Amino acid sequence: MKFRKYFRGSGRVLAFVFIASVIWLLFDIAALRISFNDVNQDLKERDIVLKQRRNKGNVDDVFKHPLQKVNVEKREFFKNKKRFEKKVDEVYRKWPKFRTEPQALLNNDKHLNSMLMEQKEVINQSKGNLTVKSPVKGTIISISPKTNETKTEINGKVNSISAKMNKINAAFGQTEANLDVKAHLLTKALTAVQEKVDSPALKENTVEKVNHTNDTLVMSHKKVDSGLQNNLSNDFLKPTKTDKPNNIIDNREKHVNTYNKTKPDITKKPVETAHSPSVRLRRSGELHKVMTLDATDLPRDPRAVGQFGQAASVPRDKELESRRRWSEGYFNVFLSEQIPIDRAIPDTRPRTCSENLVHDDLPNTSVIFCFVDEVWSTLLRSVHSVLNRSPPHLLKEIILVDDCSTKDYLKGQLDVYMSQFPKVQIIRLKERQGLIRARIAGASAATGEVLTFLDSHIECNVGWLEPLLERVYLDRKKVVCPVIEVISDKDMSYMLVDNFQRGIFRWPLVFGWSALPEEYIRKNQVKDSDPIRCPVMAGGLFSIDKNYFYELGAYDPGLDVWGGENMEISFKIWMCGGEIEIIPCSRVGHIFRGDNPYKFPKDRVKTVERNLARVVEVWMDEYKEIFYGHGYHHLLDKSVTDIGNLTEQIQLREKLKCKSFKWYLENVYPDLDAPLVKAEGVIFNVGARKCLVFQNGIFSFDKCELANKSQQFSYTWLRMLRQNTSCLAPQETQIIMEPCDNTKPHLRWMHKSGKGLTEHVMIESHSQPICLEAGVKAGIYLKNCDPINTFQKWQFTHYYAQ
Ligand code: UDP
Ligand code: MN
Repeated sequence: MKFRKYFRGSGRVLAFVFIASVIWLLFDIAALRISFNDVNQDLKERDIVLKQRRNKGNVDDVFKHPLQKVNVEKREFFKNKKRFEKKVDEVYRKWPKFRTEPQALLNNDKHLNSMLMEQKEVINQSKGNLTVKSPVKGTIISISPKTNETKTEINGKVNSISAKMNKINAAFGQTEANLDVKAHLLTKALTAVQEKVDSPALKENTVEKVNHTNDTLVMSHKKVDSGLQNNLSNDFLKPTKTDKPNNIIDNREKHVNTYNKTKPDITKKPVETAHSPSVRLRRSGELHKVMTLDATDLPRDPRAVGQFGQAASVPRDKELESRRRWSEGYFNVFLSEQIPIDRAIPDTRPRTCSENLVHDDLPNTSVIFCFVDEVWSTLLRSVHSVLNRSPPHLLKEIILVDDCSTKDYLKGQLDVYMSQFPKVQIIRLKERQGLIRARIAGASAATGEVLTFLDSHIECNVGWLEPLLERVYLDRKKVVCPVIEVISDKDMSYMLVDNFQRGIFRWPLVFGWSALPEEYIRKNQVKDSDPIRCPVMAGGLFSIDKNYFYELGAYDPGLDVWGGENMEISFKIWMCGGEIEIIPCSRVGHIFRGDNPYKFPKDRVKTVERNLARVVEVWMDEYKEIFYGHGYHHLLDKSVTDIGNLTEQIQLREKLKCKSFKWYLENVYPDLDAPLVKAEGVIFNVGARKCLVFQNGIFSFDKCELANKSQQFSYTWLRMLRQNTSCLAPQETQIIMEPCDNTKPHLRWMHKSGKGLTEHVMIESHSQPICLEAGVKAGIYLKNCDPINTFQKWQFTHYYAQ
């Protein structure tokens, strides 16, 4: 009742005014809070970035690797096994012929013998005129020597080839594709014979090309004896050198063949042969269709878990175990163990890829897998996919670099297992070096002409290698990446990704994928098998000419553990005269994981940040401010972050005469938004309705003149208010100009365009909100921030970023 009297007569008015003021005050406080929140947004950005990096795993959310929708249909399709088996060729086009079983052929003597007879017959019959025919595709080589010595020599060779062919027959079994590959081998062998007996100058005219089919060759490791393996990978496929004087040289004309030559159709080539100055000149220049090899311990069980890249599922009673084991690799380790280590996966190449021609004399490669605490089954599957699907003569070796793993099975057990494969060698690092230095160690042991780096949880698809090597062959400064497809971390299914994806980065150097714009594809008639130039590579999987890798100074060895190395090598390649491409005809699946199963010796976030800072300092010139401005100011504080010595890296850039980052942005990645400052132009004060002037060491206000140099300021990524090389600095209640220095926090000001306090210019380093205010008459002061004081509101002519 007592209160009532206040609500009568003039008291009522007073009460109303009082309540209204309280409400007004509350609103005001709220507005102030919102404004501060807004201004502080920048600081939050950093947290978001860091958080993203910590949870990098979810492929769809963070990595943004675009999966093709067709997968969903496929998974449905897999449910109906019968339909699946019948239609599998249709879905996957060049499906490995899992029903061809050499074992069965070998057991079936009648069949095998008749096959061998047929083979011998072809060769024997042809001995008279020394024309050897492929059992599948007709004539492959024809030599007509006139001298008896040559005849004898060739007869001898043909006999030994015939014996080798028998071995191949026994080992490979009969499919049209196999016979065709045998024909290819035979061609190669006979080319060698020919080289020996004929003048090299005649070689071109005497060998007819083999037309290869696109089918997959299936061969068995177990049944190929080591002698044959050596033959396959070494001399059998390579022409032998002429080592003695040729006694038939005078008859050379007579050796020239008379049959109709069929030259390979190079117009069908997928890759342009535009030769840059760095083109490798090689001897043969002959071409063949990309081989679609898939060697495996046959027969494959079509019902095996995860076979053909199908999604696998965990049985009910194993769910707990599967969940428990997840952290061993941060993917479904339990399922991975159930899946055959040589499972088939769908041939996901664009249709035209298997028609592509590549050179006969591609450079060979050393495949380097660095690993630390990798899961056994995935490591093996990675290695087998390379052994099984790479043409043996192009695979010089596989180097496994153990980056000081802690798991026992990666020691003796791995040594024993890998000792079966002469091409595999293991290097053990005594101390944990991190991915980058481990790769450098692997490269230094490599003897191949090209280095191919792969992650240790991948599956190379059929035909993956030749298209990569072809590009390096055409231009040794091309650094090439396969399309990285996705092996699901949850169900281990092999998933296609969308076409036309480029590797790009967004600020602050976050790697991602982006599709070529449709209009660009249409305008340039880009085919789905065309190489795609990439501003940056994903980093894990690529081939590079070994000498070129060293010319580029390999990796910066100062980069630790993981992260940033893909940016470093990408900038280096582009800026120092090379190119990065994704080759759609080369496909490799990779398990994208939610977390790293290995430890970072130091803090994970700090390690990555430090690596990035090294890259940025060496390569990004003035654009490095954009990086630091996206939540990485703290890296500039040398007392907190020691990024180490950069002298060698900077010298390397000078020595290689690399181009500027500006050039890189303009020529390689023009679509990146990279304004050098956040805002610039004149600074208009809303209350004074005039612009800030700094002239002869004095601040004043004047009529705004866009062309007036003393009115020009910029608001930098490091939040400095800059004019030329001087920056606005607070001094008690006034301001002065100081030489700009990105490492000095007291030069930083908070400012945003927009409503409320966002137009204010607030000192960043103070705990109290202190703002820049234009004096009513003149001068410029520091005052407590007041959201509605228009003399505290400032506007730049241009804002490029918030
Ligand atoms: N790796 C290494 N040492 C390290 C960190 C990573 O050898 O200190 C290996 C790791 O086993 C893998 C490759 O480097 O084979 C790439 O690492 P990861 O797969 O974790 O990178 P992501 O694919 O997640 O980018
Ligand atoms: Mn990986």
